Amino acid sequence: MKYYDKLIFELSKEGRCGFSLPSAHEGKLKDILPESLSRESRARLPEVSEVDVVRHYTNLSQMNFGVDTGFYPLGSCTMKYNPKINEEVASSPAFSTMHPLQDEETAQGALEVYWEMEKALSAITGLDAFTFNPCAGAHGELTGLMVMRRYHILRGDLKRTKVIVPDSAHGTNPASAAVCGLDVVVVKSNADGLVDVNDLKPLLSDEIAGIMMTNPNTLGLFEKEIGEIATLVHECGGLLYYDGANMNPLLGVVRPGDMGFDIMHLNLHKTFSTPHGGGGPGSGPVGVAARLEKCLPGPRVRKSDDGVFHIERSWDESAGKVSGFMGNFSIILRAYAYILSLGKENILKAGKFATLSANYIKESLKDCYKLPIPSICKHEFVFDGLINEGATTLDVAKRLLDYGFHAPTIYFPLLFHQTIMIEHTETESKETIDAFIEVMRKIASEAAENPQILKGAPHNTPVGRPDETQAARHPILKYWDC
Ligand SMILES: *Cc1c(COP(=O)(O)O)cnc(C)c1O
Repeated sequence: MKYYDKLIFELSKEGRCGFSLPSAHEGKLKDILPESLSRESRARLPEVSEVDVVRHYTNLSQMNFGVDTGFYPLGSCTMKYNPKINEEVASSPAFSTMHPLQDEETAQGALEVYWEMEKALSAITGLDAFTFNPCAGAHGELTGLMVMRRYHILRGDLKRTKVIVPDSAHGTNPASAAVCGLDVVVVKSNADGLVDVNDLKPLLSDEIAGIMMTNPNTLGLFEKEIGEIATLVHECGGLLYYDGANMNPLLGVVRPGDMGFDIMHLNLHKTFSTPHGGGGPGSGPVGVAARLEKCLPGPRVRKSDDGVFHIERSWDESAGKVSGFMGNFSIILRAYAYILSLGKENILKAGKFATLSANYIKESLKDCYKLPIPSICKHEFVFDGLINEGATTLDVAKRLLDYGFHAPTIYFPLLFHQTIMIEHTETESKETIDAFIEVMRKIASEAAENPQILKGAPHNTPVGRPDETQAARHPILKYWDC
C-alpha cells in the first residue's frame, strides 16, 4: 500500500482552501447576484488544497484500467486502441468551438463531415442512407426498430408487432424490441451455434415485423445460412435488422446490405476506434436500404446541387426524433478520422487480422480451456471454462487482473455455464497476444495445483470482488450523506 492510498478518501481539513481570490470579489458578487440566489451558509464541500485535488484525481485515474494502460480483451465490446490522431482532429478549435445552433452557412465543414461519413459507411456496409442521431449501439437498435415499425405502419400493415431474436443475442436486442413496444419471439441456435433455420421457419408469419441478428453472432461464428434466412424473412413480409456490434471482422470483406439486411446500426466506439467513455459519449449510426430512408429520424444533412449543405429537420414519414441535435458530433469526427487514416486497404486488413489472431489465441488455449464449438471463428470466440474444473470462470477472470490484464467478458452469451468470451482486436501486437496466452495457461496450471490462489484473486488491485449488483444498482455518488 502506498502512502497516499491511506489518504485517498478523506482529505478535507476545516479551513483549508485551494484558491486565493481577493475577498473584494464577494462584495461585487453580492451586487450582481439577486439576494434570493445567494447562499446563507457556505456550501458543504471538501476543504482541500490544490495539490490534494490533483493527487486525488490522478491517483483515482491510476486505479482504473483502460486501453491506454493495458490489454483489454472484453468480448463483444471491441476495445480497440483509440488512435491519438482522432483526438487531435476532434480537439481542433475549428470543430470543438462550434455550437449546434449556429447558422448552417457557418457550419459547412461539419456538415460535410456528416455527408462524407454517410458515404463512407454506405460503402462499408452496403446500406444506402445513415442517420447519426443515436448515441449508442442500443440506442441505434431502438431507432432501427422504430424505423422498421414506421415502415410497416406506413404500408398499413398494422399486424406486425413481433420481432424474432436468436437465443444467442446480446441482451440489448430483446430489451430494445420491448422498449419499442414489440413482442420478442426467440429462435434457437443449433449444435453448431448458428441460428436453427428449421426452428425459424414455423415462427414466420404475417405478424412478424422482422428479425434481429448479429453476424458473426455473439459466439464469433459466421451465420452461413444468412442468405436463406434473408429470403425466408423477406418472403413473409418481415425486415432484417443487423446488430453491427460485430462488424469488425467483416470490414471490407462482406457487407450487411449484400447479406440481405435492411436496417443496421454500427457502434463507432467499437468498430471505428472511438473511446467507450465509461458509458459516456458513444455513437450508434443507423443505416437503411433506400426504401426505408424516408422513415429515418431527423435531422439529416442534405446537399443541394450548388454544393451547399443543409439540415433537414423533420418530414412526415420519419419515425421521429431520437436525440438532441445530430448525435455526438465529436465521436463521429473521430471515427471519420479513423476511416480516413486507415483507407480502404487497411480497413480490410483490420478485420482480417482480428480474425486471424482470434483463431491463433483459440487454438493456443484449447488444451486448457473447454472449446464448446471448435469451428473457425471470426474476431472473437467463446470458451466454456477450464478443462480442469478446479476453478470457475469468475476465478480465472479475477486472477487475470493480478497479471495486469483486463478480464474477458464472462457468463455471456448465456448458452454455456462458464462462458469466457475473448476479443482482443487487431490493435494488439503478437507479443502482447503471446503474453496473454502464457498467462491464461499459467492460470490453468494454478487452477490444477493451487486453486486457492484463484479463489482469493485478485490479490493486488485496489478493489477485489465487490458485490457487482449492489455496486451497479446502489452506487454511492455523493460526498456528503445529505
Ligand atoms: C455492445 C453491443 C451492443 C450494444 O451496444 P452499446 O453501444 O453498448 O449500446 C449490442 N449488441 C452487441 C452484440 C454488442 O456487443
